[in-house]
Amino acid sequence: MILDAHVHLGHDVVFDEDQSEEQLEEFYAKYQVDGGIIQPYIVRPYLEDTQAIHDRIAAFVKTSTKRWWGMVSINPHFRPQDYEAEAQRCVKDLGFVGLKITPIAHACHPASQDALHVFEMARALSVPLMIHTGAGIPFSDPISVVKALESFKDVVVVLAHAGSEMHNQQATYLAEKFDNLYLEPSWVGVIGVGHMIKRLGSTKVMFSSDNIYQIPVELAKYHSILSDQNDLDNVLYKNVVSVYNLKI
Ligand SMILES: [Zn+2]
Repeated sequence: MILDAHVHLGHDVVFDEDQSEEQLEEFYAKYQVDGGIIQPYIVRPYLEDTQAIHDRIAAFVKTSTKRWWGMVSINPHFRPQDYEAEAQRCVKDLGFVGLKITPIAHACHPASQDALHVFEMARALSVPLMIHTGAGIPFSDPISVVKALESFKDVVVVLAHAGSEMHNQQATYLAEKFDNLYLEPSWVGVIGVGHMIKRLGSTKVMFSSDNIYQIPVELAKYHSILSDQNDLDNVLYKNVVSVYNLKI
C-alpha cells in the first residue's frame, strides 16, 4: 500500500496552481498510489470560499475510487470564532483528520498569536497540525515552530517539505529533539532525505508528493535510498496511518 500525506485539490490563488478531481484520479491510478490526505489549495481569504473547498474535498473523498482523508486549511487570521466553527465542522462532521498552516500563503508566523490558536484547535480536536516549511523564509524556517512545539508537546506536528532543500538540516534537528514532530520531505533532494532517515530512522518520515507531477519523483527517492521493506512500508504508508490515526 502507498498513501500520500500531502495532496492538494482546487485552485491556488497564491501560487496559481490547479489540481482537479479528474487529475487526482488519473495520476494516483497511473502511479498505483492508493490515496492520501487531501488539503485545499489556497483559496481567496473568505470564509465562504474556505467552506466551499472543504465541501469539495469531502465530496471527492466520498465518491473517489481511491482512499482519501481531508485536511483543514483555514486562514489563521480569520476571526477566532469563525476559525473554530469551520475547523470543528470539518473534523467532527466531515471526518477530516488534520489542520494546516501555510506561513507563506496565510501570512502567518508559526509563533504568532493566531498560529497558537490553531495549535489550541489541534489540541482540542485531537488532530495533527501540518505546517509548511521551506519557501517563505523567515516565517517558514523550521526554527519558527520551536516556540509552539515547546508549549504544545501533546500536539502532533508535521513539517511539510521538512524545511525543503535549503533548511532540512534544521527540520531534522528538531525532529530529533521533539517526539511529537514528524517530517514530510517533499521537494528535499535525495541526499537530504537520506541523512534525515539515517538520523531519525524510518518512523518519522512520510512519503508526500504535494503535486501530481511530483508523485513518481518522490517515490523514486525512497526506492533509491531504502532497500529494507520495513523502512519502505513505514515511509510509504505506515507512518501516515499512525500519525493521522487513519482507519484502513
Ligand atoms: Zn502543499
